[in-house]
Amino acid sequence: MTGPKTRKIAAVIVAAGKGLRAGGEIPKQFQKIGRFTVAEWSLRAFARHPDISELVLVCPADGSVPADTERLGLNFVTVTGGKTRDQSVKQGIAAVSEGCTAILIHDAARPCVPSKVIDRVIDALSEAAGAAPALPVTDALWTGADHEVTGVQDRSGLFRAQTPQGFHADAIRAAHEAHPGEAADDVEVARAAGLSVTIVPGDECNLKITGPEDFARAAAYLEPQMDIRTGNGFDVHRFGEGDHVILCGVEIPHSRGLQGHSDADVGLHTITDAIYGALAEGDIGQHFPPSDPQWQGAASHIFLEHARDLATERGFTITHIDCTLICEFPKIGPHTSEMRAKLSELLRIEASRISVKATTSERLGFTGRGEGIACMATATLVAL
Ligand code: MG
Repeated sequence: MTGPKTRKIAAVIVAAGKGLRAGGEIPKQFQKIGRFTVAEWSLRAFARHPDISELVLVCPADGSVPADTERLGLNFVTVTGGKTRDQSVKQGIAAVSEGCTAILIHDAARPCVPSKVIDRVIDALSEAAGAAPALPVTDALWTGADHEVTGVQDRSGLFRAQTPQGFHADAIRAAHEAHPGEAADDVEVARAAGLSVTIVPGDECNLKITGPEDFARAAAYLEPQMDIRTGNGFDVHRFGEGDHVILCGVEIPHSRGLQGHSDADVGLHTITDAIYGALAEGDIGQHFPPSDPQWQGAASHIFLEHARDLATERGFTITHIDCTLICEFPKIGPHTSEMRAKLSELLRIEASRISVKATTSERLGFTGRGEGIACMATATLVAL
């Protein structure tokens, strides 16, 4: 084998199982931890690794796919698995392109696999035909029956096996071809074909999601990968005829009104744009074209609610809004608590996470001359 940098390495993520022991209506690889499914977190772990050049996801035999290409922003090949684990792995291996010299086979149910564990497996493959992570058993081992200890088991030389299990591509292809089936894992298949498998240190955080409580443990390990986004918004509306303005959903009596294709709520428009900005989802004009007559005179909370729902759909929570209205008149100060309450209701977040403030522009510029109201806002969104 050549060095790891010139090697082409594929990762086969096995997500074909029923996985109903973890609880819930759907198999565990389809269940979400934060914004991604368990299978998607596993794909991400390998996609981020610089030595992995190809990703194959082995999906359940019913044709369902536990990962979404668009949500992930990753390229991967999907194949349909078989009735047993080794049939599924065989399908996955068959989808790996010819040029790959090594294949890492990973259980999708281990979404927290650290990069350093993948490193160790890959490094060991320059010396051995097979390598897999494991942890020595440190707890005392007993035998038991009917809630009673019946004996003590020697734990020396015992390991808890993890994945990814890595192999030279040709060797594992041949080993799977020759194997009769019903193996616990790929190390068993490889050893049956006479391959030697090196044990590299695994990691406690590379846990396998088995029971319902494992989702919370996995979420805790995945938290440092939190996605924090900020977006900014800016909008201006000019004054025209009228006897009130609507700012951040609150009607304020004034000698003039604001002009615009909707209700001209410059505050809500700006906050909406800040949320779209954080999501990299364009702007308000793109989602609600001014040329479309149905938005004529529309209440602007429709726009804000759309942005809020889009954030939820993408797995994000809006954690903070900071909004500054810029005008000489009307006076904003007396209305800010009502505005925060209104925004809290619309965004479904506590008012303590919403700031509304105002400034004048010292009688300078168009806001200073009282020609219109400007607004700027920052939105912070967080997703696990
Ligand atoms: Mg506007």
